[in-house]
Amino acid sequence: MTKPTTALKQRTIDLLNERGVALEAIADLVIFLQKDYIVGLTNEEALASVQTVLSKREVQNAIITGIQLDIAAEHHTLMEPLQTIVERDEGLYGVDETMALSIVDIYGSIGFTNYGYIDRVKPGILAKLNAHEPGIIHTFLDDLVGAIAAAAAARLAHDDTGEQDTPFK
Ligand code: MG
Repeated sequence: MTKPTTALKQRTIDLLNERGVALEAIADLVIFLQKDYIVGLTNEEALASVQTVLSKREVQNAIITGIQLDIAAEHHTLMEPLQTIVERDEGLYGVDETMALSIVDIYGSIGFTNYGYIDRVKPGILAKLNAHEPGIIHTFLDDLVGAIAAAAAARLAHDDTGEQDTPFK
């Protein structure tokens, strides 16, 4: 059962949509991560897991903060040197990844492995967010979206009893 949608959760989902990220696209990343491990995982289950991750207050806070910083950078309203760093999506900055890890952290070590993998492969919506099109900045959002998917996949992995509770022979 998914919890009722609070105003902050709805605002978070609206912001993701406004920045070109549909929850279905995040669910596709969850399927990408888990398809070889959870037999018969459906789009509906993946989407429900994304919804559950987005119900967490700390996840909502990270997303609205990251998106706000991306938008501020697009409007050239950040202080220097932060404006240039975020605009260039500088590899050594690292705060975008740190913010993403605060989401991944919620569901334990499987989440970290998933996040590292998806951040390297950048499938689906992550490739689009990483395109660095002129005037469009997703320095924070790409990591946050990867983290939501990694956390949602980790939730499913923990719930999957296929590999757990197998009695010892
Ligand atoms: Mg980034």
